[in-house]
Amino acid sequence: MENKLHFYNTLTRRVEQFIPNVDGKVAMYTCGPTVYHFAHIGNLRSYIMEDLLEKTLRYIGYDVKRIMNITDVGHLSSDADTGEDKMLKGAKREHKTVMEIAQFYTDAFFCDCAKLNIKKPDVIEPATNCIPEFIHMIQTLLEKGYAYEQGGNIYFDTSKLKEYYVFSNQSEQELLVGVRDDVDEDENKRNKSDFVLWFTKSKFDDQELKWESPWGLGYPGWHIECSCISMKHLGEYMDIHCGGVDNIFPHHTNEIAQSESYLGHKWCNYWFHVHHLNDKSGKMSKSKGDFLTVSLLESMGYDPIVYRMFCLQSHYRKPLEFSYEVLDNMSAAYEKLVKRIGSLQQDGEVEQEKYHVYREKFEAAICDDLNSSMAITVLYDMLKADMSDATKYALAESFDQVLSLNLTTAHAAKAADNQVDAELESYILAKIEERKAAKKEKDFAKADAIRAELLSRGIVLEDTREGVKWKRA
Ligand code: AMP
Ligand code: ZN
Repeated sequence: MENKLHFYNTLTRRVEQFIPNVDGKVAMYTCGPTVYHFAHIGNLRSYIMEDLLEKTLRYIGYDVKRIMNITDVGHLSSDADTGEDKMLKGAKREHKTVMEIAQFYTDAFFCDCAKLNIKKPDVIEPATNCIPEFIHMIQTLLEKGYAYEQGGNIYFDTSKLKEYYVFSNQSEQELLVGVRDDVDEDENKRNKSDFVLWFTKSKFDDQELKWESPWGLGYPGWHIECSCISMKHLGEYMDIHCGGVDNIFPHHTNEIAQSESYLGHKWCNYWFHVHHLNDKSGKMSKSKGDFLTVSLLESMGYDPIVYRMFCLQSHYRKPLEFSYEVLDNMSAAYEKLVKRIGSLQQDGEVEQEKYHVYREKFEAAICDDLNSSMAITVLYDMLKADMSDATKYALAESFDQVLSLNLTTAHAAKAADNQVDAELESYILAKIEERKAAKKEKDFAKADAIRAELLSRGIVLEDTREGVKWKRA
């Protein structure tokens, strides 16, 4: 098939035409969340833009298989293999087991994804499901001479590779400084850039989850999971591997080192990285503790889809600074946009020629290194163009397969919500009158029953000097 899509490949450092290994099919892998806390809206920026890539591929006709891991073990506080396991830290913080924490935050992550219209990957695999696969890969790396045992841990020996820093033309020193500010040196490592494949001796011997292995009771390093999980489901060749830019080093660098040493050939052709969402103090991160979540935005009255639009209006290769002012403007623009689309007459003839002209404009924008803000401009231009309402409506529906902004459904849903609100309000007002009458007749049991029934619907009554008021619980 015609390969229309171009995007930036971190491996070659340029925008390239995308050509999959098998014509028409795409094998795609996404680094999933570390489930020790809620995802912040920065993490979700990465997943929104990866979702955009997947949906663009499907829109232009590819059959995509996408895999995501869930990191529920092995990701230590520092990416350079020191510090406490993040999962254990989360479990201690909440006085729960690691598995309870993992389940809770995995569910919370997919709940946030659903609110942002991020499609679930075809396969979702927690790292703790794949311990035998990790052990097999580590054993093979040892047999091939790419790994060594030292101080009870198994390390990957980066000096065995012709080129370890595949992504960057930065010097080794610069990269190491970036990750090692607050890190103790691990004396076991033969080379500074070596990394752990399996721990039996970490500084934190209260690690909750441990498994038997040929090297003793222990647990896997973080990087090994993505190599094994992707190969388990996609085989030896992959087309696209995604993540946020902070994954480039060391995580993705290490994934390539161990995967290609294990396989003996090139593994993945395209590396897609999303730049960070920053707040005023810099990169938004879970470890900083104070971060923004989808639920927090919702509690402030924002529709999560407005945050999706906020992300789509900026290019995935640029850092994005979060601001309420821009989000407010986006909210207003979104409301106007869906109202405009909601007012289109859907019945009528779709003008095929015009439909195709605009579909092509849209595809050209999105296939040009995922220029999502240009794609939204095509949407606005299309709404202003001279063609039938039915054509515009059909185009909005089509573009929304990629944008996922509820373009054709949001207005009707909002109207239905308002209708429900109006019905609920008249019911509450009638109940307040009934309660007033009950009180007047000193039937306090009935009055209390009315209050309790409303409370079970999430409505709280307040007796004030100005009379009875109600609010949502
Ligand atoms: P984690 O849950 O920490 O493993 O991160 C999940 C994903 O979010 C990874 O792909 C990270 O690269 C990405 N990520 C982390 N912080 C940010 C941020 N501030 N902006 C965008 N993506 C991020
Ligand atoms: Zn990964």
